[in-house]
Amino acid sequence: MALKSERSPALDALVEEILRRAHTVGRNELEAWRKPHRELRELARLDYVRIIRPALDYHALRAIIRETRKIWPQLNREQFRPKPLNQLAAISSDLCIHLQAAPYRGPEGMALRGFYVDKTRKVLKHPLIYLNTAHHPGAVQATFMHEIGHHVTTRVTGSAGDGAHYFFHAGYPNHLGEPAELAADVVASLAAYPEPLARKMFTVPRDWGLVARADRLPDRAFARIREHVRKLLGFDFGASLPAGQSFNYLTGMIHYAKLRWALLAEYEL
Ligand SMILES: [Zn+2]
Repeated sequence: MALKSERSPALDALVEEILRRAHTVGRNELEAWRKPHRELRELARLDYVRIIRPALDYHALRAIIRETRKIWPQLNREQFRPKPLNQLAAISSDLCIHLQAAPYRGPEGMALRGFYVDKTRKVLKHPLIYLNTAHHPGAVQATFMHEIGHHVTTRVTGSAGDGAHYFFHAGYPNHLGEPAELAADVVASLAAYPEPLARKMFTVPRDWGLVARADRLPDRAFARIREHVRKLLGFDFGASLPAGQSFNYLTGMIHYAKLRWALLAEYEL
């Protein structure tokens, strides 16, 4: 469904132009997207505490949470509930963000989840979020949270970086090296796993001493995460999705869960 009220010829042309470039910009991500098993293995063993520590400090995270709570006062306190597209449009409109939500069927199709552009371009007076609605509705929600994460962190840090922030449905290890992408993912992760739930789900053993880590998810945590995602977003891996897509979604699930675990283990958030 395209949100007609948000459309204008200049904006449509800009969206088209950004989508056309996705293929070139996301070369590495597209490569990863085609080999989801490999990426899944890589993410599964990475220690996310070591990844977030240099990229996000505690004070920056607190500032991001404060800013996001102007939109969702219950962030990290209560579960974020998926909303219909027209409500996402209403939230965007309150924030003076252009929201375009439409299925994308270009050459890389499902590899693209969406993008965010700050109001730095000539044709763009307000920030722009694009959501690829060809994805599972649960994934569209997560994409929206991620893009709002960009919007919020841009307000906190005062800069969005250049051009469009593409959100590919793979290449999460690349996200990990970019503080702006990681910060946007933090917002999505805190929305999906508020603190009370995270504390139940990810037990942090006392005998770790002073060095926190978040590497291999214990089987019990994995089972709980899967059940949580099924209830929250309606995903059931393997049941109804094509095999490759199922792996791509699984990779995303592992990424957001481990990020959430690391936030708890390192910063007690
Ligand atoms: Zn992003």
